[in-house]
Amino acid sequence: MTKLAKLLIEHIKNSGPISLAEYMGECLLHPKHGYYSTRDPFGADGDFTTAPEISQMFGELLGLCLAQTWLQQGSPERFILAELGPGRGTLMADVLRATKGVPGFHAAAQIILIEASAALQKIQRETLADYDVTWVGTIGEVGAAPLYLLANEFFDALPIHQYIMEDTGWRERLVGVADGELVFGASGADDLPPLAHRRKDCRNGDLVEVCGAATAIASEIAARIAEHGGAAIILDYGDWRSLGDTLQALRNHEYDSPLAHPGQADITAHVDFEALAVAAVSHTPVTKMIHQGELLKRLGIDQRTEVLAKGLEGANLESHMSAHHRLTDPTEMGTLFKAIAFYPNGATPPPGFSQ
Ligand code: SAH
Repeated sequence: MTKLAKLLIEHIKNSGPISLAEYMGECLLHPKHGYYSTRDPFGADGDFTTAPEISQMFGELLGLCLAQTWLQQGSPERFILAELGPGRGTLMADVLRATKGVPGFHAAAQIILIEASAALQKIQRETLADYDVTWVGTIGEVGAAPLYLLANEFFDALPIHQYIMEDTGWRERLVGVADGELVFGASGADDLPPLAHRRKDCRNGDLVEVCGAATAIASEIAARIAEHGGAAIILDYGDWRSLGDTLQALRNHEYDSPLAHPGQADITAHVDFEALAVAAVSHTPVTKMIHQGELLKRLGIDQRTEVLAKGLEGANLESHMSAHHRLTDPTEMGTLFKAIAFYPNGATPPPGFSQ
């Protein structure tokens, strides 16, 4: 049993069952035993690999997309270049390398990384040692200026609540203790006004996920873009309007039961892109959701793959070509991952996206 499991069992025995959101929050970010607080989870030695860790092309293309958006908006002379949940800092490093040649872009940019884990902040500091970077813990701490923001596999790490529909209302899925072990349970049924619209497309027994943290952050980003200009590009795995249990735990590149190793497995849930769009749209226009593979192709990944391939041979060439496949192919990340963007009223969407 993990140290965090012991602490949670103790806490639940004293104060009663906790919500899944509280459980997930503790698993990922408990200051001493949380998954992100204690390790570098990425890459072959870690539990999972993300798009920027697969190929430099991912960050290069998104960097140029943001720079083009900045140019389209009249090149504001002071702006914030921000990333939510930057992992190892690889994506931002690739963005900065690719945009070096865009006249005035670096000089105008204040680079801000929004990162809750001190352990990952330290790794980001090493990756980005050549740049002047500021770290903050929340989007609320970012200053007032045009905001050009990226978030890749950030929203899937935010704590979700799960509700099951019944005749009498919604039961919330809770984490309790039985026979000294963590187990799933459920609250009494309640009428939940924010889920009223889901009674139409759900049947009794269906499970719906709600991520309050995600909608609050999406709304805050969009409000800033509406006021100051900029754009946000959000990429993640998930779909338009989630339905069903998508909670998953990954440990050593293998699926694990979400309650089995709290603090030692990555716990995520699919992102509900409709919820993000609804949260943003009262502030800014929101683009159509698009598959990651399609977005990268529109941004020129096929051409970039060819250019880089010319300088490679043998195993390096093979791994480069397989990275292109992993990022874009429908059997890999191409359609499982989606993207959406927020942009100011009266502006055009970032390149690759459509209204
Ligand atoms: N974007 C990176 C890493 C994704 S993992 C990549 O694509 O490789 C999720 C990242 O979000 C980690 O850096 C994690 O520490 C951070 N994170 C998770 N919850 C957070 C929160 N509530 N606030 C800020 N950062 C958070």
